[in-house]
Amino acid sequence: MRKPIIAGNWKMHKTVNEAVDFARSIENKLPDPERIETVICAPFVDLPALVEWAKDKQVGIGAQNMHFEEQGAFTGEISPVMLKELGVQYVILGHSERRQYFNETCESVNLKAHAAHKHGLIPIICVGETFEEREEGQTKEVVRSQVIKALTNLTGEQVKQSVIAYEPVWAIGTGQTPTAEEANDVIAYIRQVVAEQFSPDVAEAIRIQYGGSVKPDNIAQFMQQTDIDGALVGGASLKPDAFIGLLEG
Ligand code: PGA
Repeated sequence: MRKPIIAGNWKMHKTVNEAVDFARSIENKLPDPERIETVICAPFVDLPALVEWAKDKQVGIGAQNMHFEEQGAFTGEISPVMLKELGVQYVILGHSERRQYFNETCESVNLKAHAAHKHGLIPIICVGETFEEREEGQTKEVVRSQVIKALTNLTGEQVKQSVIAYEPVWAIGTGQTPTAEEANDVIAYIRQVVAEQFSPDVAEAIRIQYGGSVKPDNIAQFMQQTDIDGALVGGASLKPDAFIGLLEG
């Protein structure tokens, strides 16, 4: 049985003080960790305070990006070694905003996925089609290529421990979503691609989330689907009540 994973992606929101206020206001309402894995992916500067707060709680803390090198002359970048030493456990890779605005490519996502596993970080690898690609009926083709490239040369064990987030670009921050059945259909297809590239066993184990305009009032329909193992949530993860609503599903 795959344990669902609900991850908040704060994007470029919340100062350290705001992050700590948020954390304190949800700490008594967290779900049973046997039922759901809770993760908060925050801006780099918030991570030390959140890791400290999460020490005696069952909440994972994640970054939203990283470089693939361990160190070097890469002004402005953060390495997997730095995240690991802090106690960060997850890292979002290849979010569509990074692909769109910061030149992230399938190749760099793959290098980062290798680096994440090398340093014991769990990558949350984002894939998804644009509106035009969907209109042209290319969703599966696009997602297939992104998944294959992101996972290239990882071992089956590493893939099992990875998380994929299927996030249609047109659904992010727009209030629009595919139906839960449509999202499930793409996610089942991703699982099939993983089975072909690795093995049915690996495909059965990897967790695949849906992301894009998930809210407390629509999360249940996604969570009920057989192949959807949780959600990656932007906007609705920023308010404590809404975040708790998501975790309660
Ligand atoms: P959203 O963002 O929930 O605000 O649509 C999702 C994401 O970008 O991960």
